[in-house]
Amino acid sequence: MEQTLSIIKPDGVVKGIIGEIIKRFENNGLKIKAMKMVRLSKKEAEGFYIVHKERPFYSSLTDFMSSGPIVVMVLEGKDAIRKNREIMGATNPEDADTGTIRRDFGTDVEKNTVHGSDSPESAAFEIDYFFKSLH
Ligand code: UDP
Ligand code: MG
Repeated sequence: MEQTLSIIKPDGVVKGIIGEIIKRFENNGLKIKAMKMVRLSKKEAEGFYIVHKERPFYSSLTDFMSSGPIVVMVLEGKDAIRKNREIMGATNPEDADTGTIRRDFGTDVEKNTVHGSDSPESAAFEIDYFFKSLH
C-alpha cells in the first residue's frame, strides 16, 4: 500500500465538484485516509510549492492556490501515486486524456483542478506538510 497527497484546488471547490472528484478516487480503488478543507496563506502556498520557486509561474500559482479554500486528502492504495496521476490527467487540461479530472474540469494549465504528489519523496514531504502526525 502506498499513500499520496491530493488537493482539490480553489477552482475545483468553486465549481462545486468536490463530490465528483472524490467519487472518481473511490471508484478507482483509492481510499480517503485523511481529509480537510483549508485556506492557505500566500506563504503557506509558497512553502508547499517550494520546488517550483525558480519557475516563471511560481508567483501566479501561489496567488491562485491561496485565493480560496482547498480540500486536502491523503489517498491510499496499491500504486496510489501513479494511479492518482492517471486519474488526474496531464498538467495542461488541453493535453489530458479524455475522462481524466483535468480534461473534464480544468480551466487552463494553472487552474487545473487537482494536485497529486509525483514521487514517494514528494508524497512524504506533502503529507507531512498538511498532516504532520499521519505517517
Ligand atoms: N503550472 C502553471 N504553469 C505551467 C506549469 C504548471 O501554472 O506552465 C501550475 C499548475 O497548477 C501545476 C502546478 O503549477 O499543477 C505544478 O506544476 P507541475 O509541473 O508540478 O505539474 P503537476 O505535477 O501539478 O501536473
Ligand atoms: Mg508536480
